[in-house]
Amino acid sequence: MKLAFHGAAGDVTGSCHLVESLGKRILIDCGMRQGSRELDEENAEPFGFDAPSIDFVLLTHAHLDHTGRLPLLFKRGFRGEVISTRATFDLARLVILDVAHLHEESASRGVSAASERNGSQAKPPLFSLVDATNSLGLFGRAALYKQTIEIAPGIRATFYDAGHILGSASILLELNEPAGAVTVLISGDIGNAGRPLLRSPETPSSAKFVVMESTYGDRLHRPFSESVAEFYEAVVAAIAGGGNVLIPTFALDRAQEILYFLRQGVDEGKLPPALPIFVDSPMAVSATEIYQHHPEAYNAEAAEFFARGKDPFQTPGLRLVRDRADSVRINDVKGGAVIMAGSGMCTGGRILHHLHENISQENTHVIIVGFQGEGSLGRRLVDGAKTVSIRGDKLEVRAKVHTLNGFSAHAGQTDLLKWISVEVPFKPRILLTHGEDKARNGLSSAIRQKFGLVPELAMLGEVVEL
Ligand code: ZN
Repeated sequence: MKLAFHGAAGDVTGSCHLVESLGKRILIDCGMRQGSRELDEENAEPFGFDAPSIDFVLLTHAHLDHTGRLPLLFKRGFRGEVISTRATFDLARLVILDVAHLHEESASRGVSAASERNGSQAKPPLFSLVDATNSLGLFGRAALYKQTIEIAPGIRATFYDAGHILGSASILLELNEPAGAVTVLISGDIGNAGRPLLRSPETPSSAKFVVMESTYGDRLHRPFSESVAEFYEAVVAAIAGGGNVLIPTFALDRAQEILYFLRQGVDEGKLPPALPIFVDSPMAVSATEIYQHHPEAYNAEAAEFFARGKDPFQTPGLRLVRDRADSVRINDVKGGAVIMAGSGMCTGGRILHHLHENISQENTHVIIVGFQGEGSLGRRLVDGAKTVSIRGDKLEVRAKVHTLNGFSAHAGQTDLLKWISVEVPFKPRILLTHGEDKARNGLSSAIRQKFGLVPELAMLGEVVEL
């Protein structure tokens, strides 16, 4: 029985953990590395295991950094079964086809997706649209929350709501080896409690080994209500000053949550009723449609809102923009609008042309609502860069940049401690992943102080005997 770490050990992307038990090899997530050219390029390297030898892939959630290398796994020979919740399947299909399309499109123009963003040498695409489509054909059983699946004789998996994005899960594996049963809990990404659409994260009752994310392990999120209030203030200030509001948006969940708050702000009279809102992202538009199809994944309040026939994302001034030409036309809007566009860390996508157009205007407000990886343009803005280079132009940053980490889809330290507290009586061995070292160390010392347990920092390539 072994557990090996093949990604997101020492950083936050490329989640990929391998569990070996009872002659089966089970991968938990197969994510893409993201955030810089070096990380982009690492995606083409060997996995660290033999792809055809993998029997199952269990997905915690649909984010690219947890699902993005599934087509590559197929391309390299994986033919086993993929198991996820139904909502994760719907979102993963969107994410995987989108990334495959991006790679093919870029390759057909003679540059790789990575080199387009970073100006490096052209490379063949990581995988094709056919690989992506075929990998989607490997999705088998759909997991329901808290219903145990026997994935193979002696190996049981139970998915628990992780409250991170629609369909997200922590996965508890029970490995009934002849020498005794072992339980392994993989947290996936853990959400914030008390969010408007999703349920709060759940922790199953006991595990001997816990693999836990630590993205914001060293940070205390401000109360959600303060972030929402600051969000409305920023939008109102931008409109009053005649500027635009730019929100670099992750297409899954951040976009829907922001739409939810914009709708609520309009309903409650905090924002102008006809406020022009552009969702300039085909991905976010499609993801919003998928969100509308999964009311079973919502918390009670949001589910009831839906049941009354209301759409929590719809406002009178909302414009959903798929077409590239329509996206460019938004440049004519010189002020008074909210523009949401990807990518969430400003490493590519349509947000770049909006930043290019607006970043040097004093009355522009940029609202950062998600995690910004090291080396990303978004991180430079958060860190207060005075100049940035976008699409080859060096631009002065005169816009006001707001960082609202209360909107994060990741739990802060308080919620992470709450999540792990359920396991404490069972004295598990805790392995921290999915966090930069500063965050992991912060969470590690908090767990030590509060619970007297000493977590380990999982290393890339490390193998743990279970
Ligand atoms: Zn995630």
